[in-house]
Amino acid sequence: MQRKLPEELLDLPETPVMPVLFIGHGNPMNAIEENFYTNEWKKIASGLTVPKAILCISAHWLTKGTWVTAMEKPRTIHDFYGFPKELFAVNYPATGAPRFAEFTKSLVKKTEIGLDHDWGLDHGTWSVLNQMFPSANIPVYQLSIDYHKPANYHYELAGELKKLRAKGVLIIGSGNIVHNLRIMRFEDLSYDWTIEFDAMAKNFIWTRDDEALIDYEKHGEIAKLSIPTPDHFFPLLYTLGVTERNEIINFFSEKTTMGSISMRSVLIKKKAELIF
Ligand code: ZN
Repeated sequence: MQRKLPEELLDLPETPVMPVLFIGHGNPMNAIEENFYTNEWKKIASGLTVPKAILCISAHWLTKGTWVTAMEKPRTIHDFYGFPKELFAVNYPATGAPRFAEFTKSLVKKTEIGLDHDWGLDHGTWSVLNQMFPSANIPVYQLSIDYHKPANYHYELAGELKKLRAKGVLIIGSGNIVHNLRIMRFEDLSYDWTIEFDAMAKNFIWTRDDEALIDYEKHGEIAKLSIPTPDHFFPLLYTLGVTERNEIINFFSEKTTMGSISMRSVLIKKKAELIF
């Protein structure tokens, strides 16, 4: 029997199911530097089917309620201080994706998603996309993180976004699995607990023990140090929540740095279908 589709859905043709990414974005300077991380990001981007739109869940858009950007032309937000002027000069001129934003809103039953016309693209989004898709020719929109809600809320909300993948939307969670700026060190070394928590998280992702990640607080002192606040961790829960547990997992940019930052990134994609 043919399912009855909402009108918005009819406007957006079906595509092969897109992979999903989590990018450990780290230092905003990664937007313009060439280094191990940015090379990894570029390599991954070059292997992707060109998406119809990109939806980014950035650690840097924390709100009350859940919002999706719905403007035609999102501005580039320079949401940091004390960086060189070259970084403030970066403009990422991708168009918005208002129809995809409305469709996203229509998919979610868990909450009433608001259509936002004020935000734009923060550096959690553009610092990564400036490297991955430098020509900025793919429409981009963002979903905010309701910072008043617990981890399982975000994971479950992500589960309602799965259909976007079959509409050609590349969903990117942008944060860091370990992110503690208070005790960050300006050198390429890591605390033991950074390495330990990063490895633990890797194992939970690999075995798809999503519950162990949703309940990250139960992992004691190393979790407290690694996730003193959950802003950079929650995007990972969106990446996991919008995928199935039998999909293929690839890690890239697997490195910890600056004492207390994990740059570990994840690509999750459907198994290739066998053709007989
Ligand atoms: Zn950040």
